[in-house]
Amino acid sequence: MPTTISDLSNSESEFLICRESHKWEVKTDYDITLGTRKTIVQFTRMWVCERCKTEKHITVDATDFTVVKRRMVYPDGYLLEKGHGRVLVADVRRAQMEALGYKTKGRKRGRT
Ligand SMILES: [Zn+2]
Repeated sequence: MPTTISDLSNSESEFLICRESHKWEVKTDYDITLGTRKTIVQFTRMWVCERCKTEKHITVDATDFTVVKRRMVYPDGYLLEKGHGRVLVADVRRAQMEALGYKTKGRKRGRT
């Protein structure tokens, strides 16, 4: 299990950028499962973020080429502690500005 952080304010600046958009690099090595007569059963493709090194693994069923499994592998210090809830992009943008040293107005919707 990667180490987690308690609050977005503890996030490294490049992780805050990635929470809006990763910089994916496609890895060309497919993990292919073959069936009889070397027919493709399924394959997994992997992407790695050039900035934060998060990995994205997508497994595709080769019958209809739909995604059957998604898996993300995050670096240490990227994820928030369990129970923190979903992170809104608006909160990420706020944390980005605060990380740059700017003061921000109070949060909306009664959030703390
Ligand atoms: Zn990233």
